[in-house]
Amino acid sequence: MDCNSDQEQFSAYLLGALEVVEADKIDQHVDRCAPCSDILRAEGDVVVNLARLSPQIMAPNRIKRRLLSAIDTEAA
Ligand SMILES: [Zn+2]
Repeated sequence: MDCNSDQEQFSAYLLGALEVVEADKIDQHVDRCAPCSDILRAEGDVVVNLARLSPQIMAPNRIKRRLLSAIDTEAA
């Protein structure tokens, strides 16, 4: 688990730009790492706010599912 290198991938992760294997690695990391989970959630908030500012651009369902799953993980 490498926090710095995984954090560099959070933006791509939130945009759904990572390969499934890489995204799974991030999922498993943030499940176990509270600081990275907080950072990912904060970056997710930015993505959500950007989406709200740009109503003509719909977020793909894949991203929504990821965000919701990250929020569920945080709440659990
Ligand atoms: Zn970490």
